[in-house]
Amino acid sequence: MSTTEELNCSFCGRAKPQTDLLIAGMDAHICDRCIEQAYGILADENEVKLSKESEAFELKKPQEIKSFLDQYIIGQTEAKKVLSVAVYNHYKRILNPTKDEELEIQKSNLLLVGQTGTGKTLLAQTIAKMLNVPLAIVDATILTEAGYVGEDVESILTRLLQAADYDVERAQKGIVFIDEIDKIARKGDNPSITRDVSGEGVQQALLKLLEGTVVNVPPKGGRKHPDQKFIEVDTTNILFIAGGAFDGIEREINKRMNLQAIGYRNKDDSQEIDQDNLLQYIIPKDVKSFGLIPEIIGRLPVLTYMHPLDQKTLRSILTAPKNALVKQYIRLFEYDNIALEFTTGALDFIVEKALEYNLGARGLRSLCEAILTDAMFSLPGSDTTELKVTKLYAEEQLNKSNNPSLKAVS
Ligand code: ADP
Repeated sequence: MSTTEELNCSFCGRAKPQTDLLIAGMDAHICDRCIEQAYGILADENEVKLSKESEAFELKKPQEIKSFLDQYIIGQTEAKKVLSVAVYNHYKRILNPTKDEELEIQKSNLLLVGQTGTGKTLLAQTIAKMLNVPLAIVDATILTEAGYVGEDVESILTRLLQAADYDVERAQKGIVFIDEIDKIARKGDNPSITRDVSGEGVQQALLKLLEGTVVNVPPKGGRKHPDQKFIEVDTTNILFIAGGAFDGIEREINKRMNLQAIGYRNKDDSQEIDQDNLLQYIIPKDVKSFGLIPEIIGRLPVLTYMHPLDQKTLRSILTAPKNALVKQYIRLFEYDNIALEFTTGALDFIVEKALEYNLGARGLRSLCEAILTDAMFSLPGSDTTELKVTKLYAEEQLNKSNNPSLKAVS
């Protein structure tokens, strides 16, 4: 005598006519809405499980870290080695919280000194990729002391939170790359610096962040959203990598080394100084002479340098890294069934031009883009199935090109 009216959802109790669908089980029924709700719960659970799984990273040994970096970054052996050790120590410290109150292992924040375009940002990006941790890249020049026009230092953590999809736990194990740290050097010690309100004040504001503290972070950043609720972020386990070109620091290095040479003249006459690459001799004292305050230098205890990119390195950068530019263009053309090939002459020509324009590795991309724009515009959809870029072709295309990023420096 059971009629449809008597059937109810066993979960919410709704009667069949009030549902769009009622599915029968052994001794129970479930309605469409309860199915949807249950599915939502399941999806949330899975998401949590997945994010936990991706969080549990296995820490690679320094040599393995360097091998990973080698796939993407050409040369810079010293910096890669130093970074691998610093990253290893940093995450070892996080994974093994100290039980010994007396012995606290300090952070291994880094300072990378090297000309622009030598791969400092790329190093930070690659290490974050390897560790699967969020990365925030910020420019120190936008930071000012609280109260001045510009961004407060807390905005750095807003970026990190955004990179971590607002997962505070993940953000707290992330990496922050502060570019152009040299531009906030103290004015007095460096005649090339024109900014003022920032400088030392910003350095002071950064101190606590670098060392480890709990910061109230405006999730949307800036001061434009005064009513936003702050999120607490603990920076104790965030790895900070600061980078800068420190233009002119060679003078400080040279000065110091000459003084040293005078002091030790009789002991060590044989010490040859490589004047073309003075950065390799950099020590914290030089950075201090340049205008970073000692407290900042102390909180960036690992100091290393980047080599300028020579012709040979630029040439390798074009073809060797895992995601080398040339490989990327070949793949892009492949999608249109066009076999793209560069002759050795063309590749050498591109490097020559990058050096001539003084564009470093960034210029390689602008040059390739300029050389290939015509082909990338006209070949898709045509009958062409191959394109061989020779030196002559590259030269012709470049002469025709109006690429503003090349014009700006030529
Ligand atoms: P920096 O931060 O030192 O100014 P970047 O890391 O932004 O320089 O480098 C700019 C681009 O140049 C990178 O995206 C990368 O394509 C290329 N590049 C620079 N140095 C290297 C390198 N040593 N190996 C591979 N690619 C490099």
